Amino acid sequence: MFATNYQDILDRVANFDASEYARSRNFLDGTVSRLSPYISRGVISTKYVLEQLDTRYDRSSIEKFIQELAWRDYWQVCWNELGDAISSDLRYPQTPVSSLKPPLSLIEGNTGINDVDHAIVELYNTGYMHNHMRMYVASLATNFGQRHWLQSARWMYYHLLDGDWASNALSWQWVAGSNSHKKYWFNQENLNKYGLSEQHKTFIDQPYNNFPLNDVPSALVDDISLRLHIELPETTDIIIDSSKPTVVYTTYNLDSRWLTDLDANRVLLLEPSHFDRYPVSPHVLKFILDLTHEIEGIQVAVMEFKQLKELCCPNFDVHYKQHPLSKHFEGIEHSRDWMTSVHTYSKSFSGWWKKARRELGL
Ligand SMILES: Cc1cc2nc3c(=O)[nH]c(=O)nc-3n(C[C@H](O)[C@H](O)[C@H](O)COP(=O)(O)OP(=O)(O)OC[C@H]3O[C@@H](n4cnc5c(N)ncnc54)[C@H](O)[C@@H]3O)c2cc1C
Repeated sequence: MFATNYQDILDRVANFDASEYARSRNFLDGTVSRLSPYISRGVISTKYVLEQLDTRYDRSSIEKFIQELAWRDYWQVCWNELGDAISSDLRYPQTPVSSLKPPLSLIEGNTGINDVDHAIVELYNTGYMHNHMRMYVASLATNFGQRHWLQSARWMYYHLLDGDWASNALSWQWVAGSNSHKKYWFNQENLNKYGLSEQHKTFIDQPYNNFPLNDVPSALVDDISLRLHIELPETTDIIIDSSKPTVVYTTYNLDSRWLTDLDANRVLLLEPSHFDRYPVSPHVLKFILDLTHEIEGIQVAVMEFKQLKELCCPNFDVHYKQHPLSKHFEGIEHSRDWMTSVHTYSKSFSGWWKKARRELGL
């Protein structure tokens, strides 16, 4: 379902029908691009997608899609500016919170809400979940289930091929009301409209004015202690020719067309300290490793940056791309590709989008 061959990824961009997007994107079987695993992992950029769309569409006819791409850039601007603060309640304390642990039924795909349960199984099988379903799931955990958003967000991130902590944590917080002034609620009528099945008599089959519910629905009462296990590959001996520069790739930068003219050592750096904090499933790790097959001569290094630095000495000449999680890297930092030059933080997307939109000529 998610190819890792570079040409197939470019074909996906070239074949995407953006004209249908605004009308159908909220439907669970609507026309969405499924490009996020590649954008998130830095294989392609939002800028590249926009440039390709420019060859086929007038920007104003696909503004909704461009705005969604802009959400990605905006969350990255937030992460750059706020750093670790995005991992705690950002603007308001989430309330009420009855437990930090996720609801067991959600993790087991057994909530009794058919579309949700199917989507969770699909997440485990494919590493993808539709945006609207992510909102439903986050609302079930945080608002109906009264769970703090963090642990449930970590669970979802673990399974997503497109796992991006900024888009993830800040979207969870948006749903839970800690990064927005109201919580996101949905009901069965809404799910039946946008979903794939027609269901009634579930605990969400109620009018909106019944929300918030007085009690946590029985289906969401039990919780689970998460164990997000990760097994990093064995590192074979890394051979660094210290007479050459070293180009460092990470799980967020797998751009196989970057610095290809440079005669260099190429290393995918998997830092154990990073994965302790942001574990990913075996399926996600395999996806990342498969994407590196497009990078000629790349070696996989399971070590911290400072160990890699020692291997690169005495002629330390290291290149990496800017990312909030690479602040401890040293060497030559290259900027990432963005759609606009609006990299200053705004508290709200609308404030930021106003400036970005102008620059995009919309
Ligand atoms: C609770 C929750 C958790 C999320 N976690 C992640 C995550 O870990 N990683 C991730 O990449 N996205 C996350 N998102 C955002 C969004 O759901 C996905 O980017 C989108 O569903 C990806 O599918 P697509 O490529 O088919 O999107 P499309 O609808 O085709 O959108 C095109 C592109 O725009 C960007 N985009 C679209 N919507 C958003 C958004 N809301 N926020 C940021 N970028 C967006 C993505 O790069 C996407 O590829 C989350 C959203 C929610 C509500």
